[in-house]
Amino acid sequence: MTVAAGRPYEVVIGIETHVELGTRSKMFCGCSAKWFGSPPNTVVCPVCLGLPGALPVPNRRAIELSILAGLALHCEIPEHTKFDRKNYMYPDLPKGYQISQYDMPLTVNGWLEIPADGGGTKRVGIIRAHLEEDTGKLLHADGYSLVDFNRSGVPLLEIVSRPELSSVQEALAYATTLREILIHLAVSEFRLEEGAARFDTNVSIRFREGGEVRWPPQSEIKNLNSLRALEQAVTFESQRLWEDWQAGGEIRTRKAKITVGWSPDTGRTFLQRRKEEAEDYRYFPEPDLVTYGPSRESVEALRSTLPEMPEARRARIRRDYGLSEYDTRILVSEPPLAAYFESVVKDGGADPKAAANWITGEILRYLREKGLRSSDIPIWPLQLAGLVRLVAAGEINTTVAKAVFADMWGSGDDAATIVDRKNLRQVSDDSAIAAVIDEVIAAETKAVADYRGGNKRAIEALFGKVMGRMQGKGNPQVVRKLLAEKLG
Ligand code: ZN
Ligand code: MN
Repeated sequence: MTVAAGRPYEVVIGIETHVELGTRSKMFCGCSAKWFGSPPNTVVCPVCLGLPGALPVPNRRAIELSILAGLALHCEIPEHTKFDRKNYMYPDLPKGYQISQYDMPLTVNGWLEIPADGGGTKRVGIIRAHLEEDTGKLLHADGYSLVDFNRSGVPLLEIVSRPELSSVQEALAYATTLREILIHLAVSEFRLEEGAARFDTNVSIRFREGGEVRWPPQSEIKNLNSLRALEQAVTFESQRLWEDWQAGGEIRTRKAKITVGWSPDTGRTFLQRRKEEAEDYRYFPEPDLVTYGPSRESVEALRSTLPEMPEARRARIRRDYGLSEYDTRILVSEPPLAAYFESVVKDGGADPKAAANWITGEILRYLREKGLRSSDIPIWPLQLAGLVRLVAAGEINTTVAKAVFADMWGSGDDAATIVDRKNLRQVSDDSAIAAVIDEVIAAETKAVADYRGGNKRAIEALFGKVMGRMQGKGNPQVVRKLLAEKLG
């Protein structure tokens, strides 16, 4: 047993992660799975409203995505699986039960590698990942509540870790790593902010007292919908359990786990339920669906489509292109960005560092400003490579290149076309630049006198005037050199 320095107890954490899958339609009907932002109760049908006589038809893509997630998490894919009814009454659950998987989930016994507290990596076991359907949503107002069933029936993957996380930092590392993998696989967009992904977190404390190891029952903190909530709730609840034990509170006699909620406003957990066992749900096999056995061929076919995982991709991009840790992290954080980068470099022959600078700088800034996704960059990789090459060849300077980039973003034209259309080619010709410098020296008598009087910074104003007269097209190095020479 390890107890962190300064803390008299060890924290034991297991996380159940619910994520909506990136399918087009819902789990058992043809309604759109993209419910977020639609007017209430408009993305519904008799199946996802649980009307009498409606029958479920499983979504093949949801099953494939679940298996894909399982494979990426090093899980086994059992030869037989089935759906079960999990019975409970709640106003957001129209059928009075949720179709889930009880004892024969789609995937079992995997692991996930996370950065460990003390450096290095740590393997965290995955007990299972099973497929179920999401519930509707309740909107609570003053004295009444409203229900919206748009989310009802959206495919939901529940990934259950072993209770092997031993600190808040490890819990956060687990959540972040899992999120990155599922996004990379395009299994889920993991939209925590829309309630389309959330964490149920089991927290307990373990310590020595009177020569014996104590490990009182855990608290399950329900529906944490941000990394910040996860961090704060786990910190609060573990300390609360410890203080309750010290004060001789109810944790000393409690035999079973409790379920609590998290209030970000008060920064405290609050009790929801005292006990909740599997038998409370009266699970039984879903009679409207047959058992299912994913063929070994179909599992292997899915395995062959697994993309490179984020950690491996980062290592390869750092190694192959000599990029910094920082650039690599940004590029790999969004798979379309990494693919775009590799195409600019490999297909377009651009310098890797210059390409990375454009992507992590201007491109990300434009995407953010225009509210676009990283898959919607309007400039083709080969076009950006063309721009990078024009700068490398000294055809345009970097200031002009930014203006050309802005034009490319709007017009879709190639960089060279824009440079010709706007006559932006950099002027490096000594005599042409010298002529402009003579004009400027003749016109700017005060700055020239300042410079010759010893104020060397006055040369910046003259440099600006020369570049201005040349519409920014002067080769900066040549302009500076000639200007210094002529000023003497
Ligand atoms: Zn429906
Ligand atoms: Mn669940």
